[in-house]
Amino acid sequence: MPSLIPYEIINYLENNLTQGSVSCVTGAGISAESGIPTFRGKGGLWEKYDPETYAYPQGLLNLLRKRPDKLANFIIDFYSMLQEAKPNPAHIALAHLEKKGILDATITQNIDNLHKLAGSNNVIELHGNAFRIICPGCGNKIMFSKERINEFVSLLKDKHGSRIGITKILSRFFPRCNCSLRYRVDIVLFGEMLPENELSLAYKALKKCKILLVIGSSLAVYPASMLPLFAKENGARVIEINSQMNDFSQNCDHRIIGSASKILTEIVSLIR
Ligand code: NAD
Repeated sequence: MPSLIPYEIINYLENNLTQGSVSCVTGAGISAESGIPTFRGKGGLWEKYDPETYAYPQGLLNLLRKRPDKLANFIIDFYSMLQEAKPNPAHIALAHLEKKGILDATITQNIDNLHKLAGSNNVIELHGNAFRIICPGCGNKIMFSKERINEFVSLLKDKHGSRIGITKILSRFFPRCNCSLRYRVDIVLFGEMLPENELSLAYKALKKCKILLVIGSSLAVYPASMLPLFAKENGARVIEINSQMNDFSQNCDHRIIGSASKILTEIVSLIR
């Protein structure tokens, strides 16, 4: 089978995939082959739900007060999409590169937990994790198992339309913290700040990497769009892996066009 990677990039990678030399920034495209559509893409979440309502904290709070049935439908669709997804060869290739000591950090904009499920340990989740809840007061975090999410979704399905029933389920899965505030899902919604700790870890990794792989992201969302530029300023070579060119591509030193899982599997095969 012909290689998806241009010869000069193969040559460069063969000589430069050294210990700790690589970090990566991943986006929705890396999980597309796990069956999670990009939100704005065909079959994506924003085809059915208006992000002006469903991606903003105030929009979700208004729904909770006025139309909990609509909120429940959204939660059911959102988690049904995430629940079934399994890591694909792209996630697995990154976990392998980390295990070999070549990949330092996986900086992700995804909230689907697939990098961790694939076995990556140093995952910096810039937009949070849909399987985790956080106390907005003290910052305490609790991870939900798949089984707990299954239970949450099936209870919501049972109580379809019942305002009191839905509110009770939400209170049970988002309980009050010891500090008295109520937990919320640990996802960065539109208009919210990125978690400071994760951003600072991301900048540290970007400062020291020699090669930055930007995988399956249009990088249209600020401040994630600044990360590769920061790496470049600090001497890294930025290599984009994407199924198509986009507005960000021109900022990259190299582009490899094609499926993330095929390209990353091929990169793993280059390790000596
Ligand atoms: P995006 O939707 O803006 O861009 C996705 C990119 O992936 C596109 O450039 C597309 O060409 C590329 N792509 C699609 N399939 C691919 C494949 N098989 N191989 C390689 N590239 C492929 O995504 P974004 O830049 O991550 O920004 C969207 C925002 O939505 C992010 O903030 C992210 O948190 C969120 N989001 C997350 C998930 C998830 O957790 N899986 C899914 C959808 C959206």
